[in-house]
Amino acid sequence: MLTDTSNPLRQPIREAHFRKGNNALSRIMVNRQMPPADIAEFFTRLRRRNPEPRSELEYVNPYTLLVAVVLSAQATDSGVNRATKNLFAIASTPAAMLELGEERLRGHIKSIGLYRTKAKNIIALSEILLREHGGEVPHAREALEALPGVGRKTANVVLNVAFGEAAMAVDTHIFRLANRTGLAPGKTPRAVEDALVAVIPKRFMRSAHHWLILHGRYVCKARRPDCAQCVVRDLCRFEDKTA
Ligand code: SF4
Repeated sequence: MLTDTSNPLRQPIREAHFRKGNNALSRIMVNRQMPPADIAEFFTRLRRRNPEPRSELEYVNPYTLLVAVVLSAQATDSGVNRATKNLFAIASTPAAMLELGEERLRGHIKSIGLYRTKAKNIIALSEILLREHGGEVPHAREALEALPGVGRKTANVVLNVAFGEAAMAVDTHIFRLANRTGLAPGKTPRAVEDALVAVIPKRFMRSAHHWLILHGRYVCKARRPDCAQCVVRDLCRFEDKTA
């Protein structure tokens, strides 16, 4: 239950124990848990601003979404989109990617960090998709996480965006926002993921991932959140608002 005070995630955040020596994180986490009615209002307002949010990564099918998400680790969406524009025009399926080959793939993505490792993983995962999944991206977490270069976060993005599942991929923006606002405090991405899934009303879950990423990327920014322009300012538990 959302009001279950026996759940440590429902306790005031200041009661939790946090790592010493990380002042920024500690300061974020002394806020209070946002109550259910405010969480519902939080997402109602984000939905009003952007009724149909979508990923800023460009893709043409589940396979290119998977490749784009693998490439996006420690890279910006715009940087990935610049690299994949030409790549996906010639390689939008596992078979076409294998035909392209690792060396030419590297040439397309060399502007992206860790491109050698990513190229190797994309070729390897394409081989597995062809060999074990008929060339399709599997609609199953275990099968996705078994692919090279695919962890829980990437699997969650694919499950949410390609298959419409109510999965929550916690990136740096969502981790910060969930803790800062009191929406779903947690010390690790997995703790925040579980807390978000527990507190977000089902009707918002499908799009919540996008709303939170976009709000964290453009409004509730890491160094200086733009609180004056924030539509959820009165609901947010952050004590050091900038306005
Ligand atoms: S009020 Fe400020 S800290 Fe709170 S969500 Fe909005 S931008 Fe972030």
